[in-house]
Amino acid sequence: DTPLVVTDLHKSYANGFRAVDGVSFTVHRGQVLGLLGPNGAGKTTTLRMLMGLITPSGGQMRVFGHLVTPGAPVLSRLGSFVEGSGLLPHLSGLDNLRLYWEATGRPAADARMDEALEIADLGDAVHRKVRSYSQGMRQRLALAQAMLGLPDLMVLDEPTNGLDPPQIRTMREVLVGYARTGRTVLVSSHLLAEVEQTCTDVVVMNHGRVIAAGTVEELTSAE
Ligand code: ADP
Ligand code: ADP
Repeated sequence: DTPLVVTDLHKSYANGFRAVDGVSFTVHRGQVLGLLGPNGAGKTTTLRMLMGLITPSGGQMRVFGHLVTPGAPVLSRLGSFVEGSGLLPHLSGLDNLRLYWEATGRPAADARMDEALEIADLGDAVHRKVRSYSQGMRQRLALAQAMLGLPDLMVLDEPTNGLDPPQIRTMREVLVGYARTGRTVLVSSHLLAEVEQTCTDVVVMNHGRVIAAGTVEELTSAE
């Protein structure tokens, strides 16, 4: 089963703007695939459709063969965070993780919770409400939460926004390590250097279209 197949995806917003205009790409098992493009390229729109948060105007997406349909229950094999979704601001960071963990139906104490707390790296702030967190703190908490369920396909929208360089390095190591366990990561970025350092493969988007795709080596050596 292929983790993700996106076919001729389109999205026009209510004002008629074509944010995604015929996008197709495939993500294979074990890849860390970077969706690279400048602001406004259509990356977030694409990922929000994948999450079932907004409805495509056309085309389709299959996650491990299952058709993504808007409003359907989140596929158990898909873990994700898109900025501004997934975290409950009126709960503490710890309670957010616990709630998510309980939703997976696993025992209350587990080594994975400890690992998640380490990734979130919130210190004492783990007891404060998420509402009071900086962007970087939210990003780390969202990553920790996404990883808790060990999804076969993890989808991350600009996860390094608001992180400082050491935290970006940690994020990179976490994602690369995650894919080495045979799972798959799809991550968006507007920074080529970041994609080069983290990803195995890249899909380049601009103006709602895919303008290049291949391995990172192919795309960075083809002068
Ligand atoms: P990226 O994530 O690559 O920065 P986005 O998917 O966020 O790109 O946005 C793509 C384009 O769609 C941008 O020009 C943005 O302004 C526009 N856009 C995003 N959301 C809406 C909306 N709700 N209505 C109209 N245009 C939108
Ligand atoms: P980001 O740059 O983080 O991808 P934006 O700042 O472009 O996100 O968008 C923030 C919110 O505003 C989103 O909900 C998006 O759908 C909406 N939005 C963005 N551009 C437009 C637009 N041109 N018209 C209407 N809504 C928009």
